Amino acid sequence: MAWDFQTEPEYQAKLDWARDFVREEIWPLETVFSELSQDQLDRVYAPLQERVKEQGLWAAHLDPELGGQGYGQVKLGLLHEILGTSPFAPNAFGCQAPDSGNSEILAMAGTPEQKERWLEPLLAGDIKSAFSMTEPNAGADPTLLTTSAVRDGEDWVINGHKWFSSNASIADVLIVMAVTDPDARPHQRASMFIVPADTPGVNILRDVATMEHPQEEFGKLGGHAEILYEDVRVPADALLGAEGAGFLIAQHRLGPGRIHHCMRWLGVSSRAFDMLCERATYRYAFGSVLAEKQTVQNWIADSAAQMQAARLMTLHAAWRMDTEGAAAARTDISMIKFFGAQVLHDVIDRAVQLHGSLGYSTDLPLEAMYRFARAARIYDGPDEVHRQSVARQVLRGYAPPADEVPTEHVPTRRAAAREKFAEILETVTAND
Ligand SMILES: Cc1cc2nc3c(=O)[nH]c(=O)nc-3n(C[C@H](O)[C@H](O)[C@H](O)COP(=O)(O)OP(=O)(O)OC[C@H]3O[C@@H](n4cnc5c(N)ncnc54)[C@H](O)[C@@H]3O)c2cc1C
Repeated sequence: MAWDFQTEPEYQAKLDWARDFVREEIWPLETVFSELSQDQLDRVYAPLQERVKEQGLWAAHLDPELGGQGYGQVKLGLLHEILGTSPFAPNAFGCQAPDSGNSEILAMAGTPEQKERWLEPLLAGDIKSAFSMTEPNAGADPTLLTTSAVRDGEDWVINGHKWFSSNASIADVLIVMAVTDPDARPHQRASMFIVPADTPGVNILRDVATMEHPQEEFGKLGGHAEILYEDVRVPADALLGAEGAGFLIAQHRLGPGRIHHCMRWLGVSSRAFDMLCERATYRYAFGSVLAEKQTVQNWIADSAAQMQAARLMTLHAAWRMDTEGAAAARTDISMIKFFGAQVLHDVIDRAVQLHGSLGYSTDLPLEAMYRFARAARIYDGPDEVHRQSVARQVLRGYAPPADEVPTEHVPTRRAAAREKFAEILETVTAND
């Protein structure tokens, strides 16, 4: 029996340190973020990042030979649950999306020269990166991508239109997915390219204003850029991995990334849950505090149960990834993606409701969490696509029954059982 839900005491001590650090040093940043320029933000982060490095918690998603800690997905998941309590925490720990996923694919598919030029400074926190795959007309189904990379002598020339490339407007380097062989099989058409952001022809048009950031503000952490790639010329060694391996690399990037997202969502949920419970203890209406209303008790109990389920599912997916590899964990990861996104939404929604007009106002962080949560059902693959993939996987274990009579059809089973037990049934009848 190897079931074990305990965290090693040494690692628990690190998690405790991280929890206090995030609460004391990062949460205050949330309230002044809009007053800081990117340059000022970088200055705030620099000493915080040093303290994280001293604790050995920097870039924990990568193996030690790459400057990370090699913790594996379960330990990483537990850390991400803490970092998720604030959108600004991952950046202090060197594991913010999209840099974390980009460093993973550079580590996995990069040549020694590419690693030296891009991975090392990315891990050191000296440069920023973006992942540029989604196009206005191709998102959930990336086989529809039209951005092209065409060979011209020793170079590649990239043309296309992308959007929602997170952090691209502050990035030094973009990882761009482009079609290199339109005639190949759908999942072998595209390749990945490492494109320095200052390459001529990389035209970053804007950071798209969103539900999360309704004010269009250019060039700041968390923006989602719209980009025109116009005759962007990069050398042959800009190709990341093999030609035609774009989908494979993207898949490697998204597996662990989804586990990290789900654990971070639990961090957000737990903060909303604390607000929900706190409010229930003192808000008085119709003869009692809200904690005494059964609807409110249901919300608290349902939220606690949903969060526990999402947490166990996510840690289990992480454990499978650590022990059996990414392929074995694929269905589990799809399950946590849509389940976790729903839990996140439900818990925040109840907390908003229980706070009434205060919950709807910007005097509390709940409305911002609610807007953040809505995107979770779209990015990293819309929930419907993950549900489809889980259902397909599950259905592989089933086949139509003989003559299309359901396997559990009681009259058919009864006839079979009568035959099986005929001798005994006859005896009973005779004794009667
Ligand atoms: C906050 C945020 C950050 C992002 N960051 C990045 C980034 O850094 N880099 C990047 O490249 N992209 C990024 N994206 C884009 C993201 O990956 C896409 O939004 C996502 O893949 C969905 O693509 P789409 O928006 O084009 O939706 P579409 O492909 O148009 O899908 C729209 C809807 O159609 C439905 N649908 C699609 N397929 C199916 C199906 N099989 N069954 C049933 N219904 C279906 C779903 O309801 C889906 O939500 C980000 C998006 C958001 C919101």
